[in-house]
Amino acid sequence: MIKYNLSCDCGKTFDSWFSSSSEYDNLIKKKLIHCIYCESTSVNKSVMSPNLPGKSNTIDNKTKFQKDIKKQIMGLKKFIETNCKNVGKDFPRVARNIHYDKKTSQGIYGKATPEETAELIEEGIEVATIPWIDKTEN
Ligand SMILES: [Zn+2]
Repeated sequence: MIKYNLSCDCGKTFDSWFSSSSEYDNLIKKKLIHCIYCESTSVNKSVMSPNLPGKSNTIDNKTKFQKDIKKQIMGLKKFIETNCKNVGKDFPRVARNIHYDKKTSQGIYGKATPEETAELIEEGIEVATIPWIDKTEN
């Protein structure tokens, strides 16, 4: 037996058991799988769920989503560390220098208080804030 978590176009999800994945394929092809909420046949397999009590797929999906976001931020962080110069707390000053002295176009990163960031943006200096995740954090 195999358990699939099915999701319907109506936004609901529900679990269904099949004897095999090919049985599922057959039933879905013949449009014999109906949504238990709205009777629609627009259902799709979402994720195969391990049959663990108390573990809901909503939480799994949320965790995966958060992991994806974290991965993207880590990627961004790595990119910045590789391509930009860390100026630390000097960030607002160096950012102004770069902005007003157009010769330099080096990317920098560092720390700035929300007030300093707001001032830089007011002056028309391009600043992006990203959540900085520590590598040691899990
Ligand atoms: Zn439905």
